[in-house]
Amino acid sequence: MLLRHTPKEIKERKALTVNPAKTCQPIGAMYAALGIHGCMPHSHGSQGCCAYHRSALTRHYKEPVMAATSSFTEGSSVFGGQANLIQAINNIFTIYNPDIIAVHTTCLSETIGDDVNQICQKARDDGKVPEGKHVIHCNTPSYVGSHITGYSNMLKGIIKYFSKSTGVKKDQINIISGWIEPSDMREIKNIVNQMGIKVVLFPDTSDILDAPQTGVHAFYPKGGTTIPELTSTGDSKFSLALGEFATDAAAKDLDSKCKVKFKTIDLPIGLSATDRFIVALSNAADVDVPSSITEERGRLVDIITDMQQYFYNKRVALFGDPDQLIPLTELLVDLDMKPVYIVSGTSGKVFDRRIKEILAESMPDAKVKNGANADLFLLHQWIKNDPVDLIIGNTYGKYIARDEDIPFLRMGFPILDRVGHSYFPTVGYSGAMRILEKILNLLMDRQDRDSSEESFELVM
Ligand code: SF4
Repeated sequence: MLLRHTPKEIKERKALTVNPAKTCQPIGAMYAALGIHGCMPHSHGSQGCCAYHRSALTRHYKEPVMAATSSFTEGSSVFGGQANLIQAINNIFTIYNPDIIAVHTTCLSETIGDDVNQICQKARDDGKVPEGKHVIHCNTPSYVGSHITGYSNMLKGIIKYFSKSTGVKKDQINIISGWIEPSDMREIKNIVNQMGIKVVLFPDTSDILDAPQTGVHAFYPKGGTTIPELTSTGDSKFSLALGEFATDAAAKDLDSKCKVKFKTIDLPIGLSATDRFIVALSNAADVDVPSSITEERGRLVDIITDMQQYFYNKRVALFGDPDQLIPLTELLVDLDMKPVYIVSGTSGKVFDRRIKEILAESMPDAKVKNGANADLFLLHQWIKNDPVDLIIGNTYGKYIARDEDIPFLRMGFPILDRVGHSYFPTVGYSGAMRILEKILNLLMDRQDRDSSEESFELVM
């Protein structure tokens, strides 16, 4: 009982978070930057921050994650990090030769007030940025927001630096991806290819954080959105932004900068959200939905129909990132399951509104909380008071699952103790089939384990 000290009695807390359901802003900025081809993320702060961000990503993706740091010492913490950053930009281009350096700040550089925009400009003016190379930046003070905020801020930085309008529209659509796995980005490209639509997907971490083992180390793997593609986003005829928390701000910036109209929809996780994604794509590109996609949808509906009795009425606790939790909650409702507790460490009023809309008919009494005090401690207390049949969330949920003996589905970020998430998608109809398979396996394994000898069934 590793969490045996968690009390059942719930007390109001204002200034204390225990086991947060989020991580720090720069991790999101780093992940978004890794989705650009030839990009070296750079952490403007101390070595310890950068080491943490890199190791969090490496442990989740099981891939080497390259990133540089301004390596603040006591002196730079007091007098500012300009000299360190300019030296770093010079060193990185000289030694590691990336196309882009994507700088994000940290708590420390934000607290001392470094003007990173000005420092990057000084580096350009001083000739530290070679011809054809780029330095972009975003601010990621981690004492506010979460890794999702940092991801969103880096997307805004990408738009600010690269998107350009030539005045001539291209027959292409932007897909601004929220935080999903490399496998999910690959699946989105698979779907648009089936529909015959030309898209610019950004960021795109497929072939970077799921790069194959070839025996040859590529410092900059072949994947990622290229600079010409990013520049052309300003000429696209439409943008689909997937996930309000991670992508809506970037889509708005692109619209105001280059007049590219947009629609923000949920990440295509589950049946209903994927339906909306396919319809939005079909409308934006003015193409019909091919039979291959309709048939895939039919297979998903077939599993739901066949196995509905195993899903029915099962109580579920979920935690994680809002853009994933919103469509996931909707999927659980579509399955006739009961999402009773939903927690996200990322703030934003829209989360509560969207979840309550989804649960209005089936689960009006569900407990929903997001923001600073929405943590795993509170989720555990809710579960202790009224248990659930399934927990869905990142690896940190395993402690609650073990203590309370509840089946646990790992979804979200980070997953530190399993593999598969970066190779097998959870978006689209095929991704939803995978989620269903995993839920069913957990529930049926539990039924087998708990059955008496007389009711232990060969065919379930
Ligand atoms: S929370 Fe702040 S100090 Fe901690 S690792 Fe993140 S950026 Fe660094």
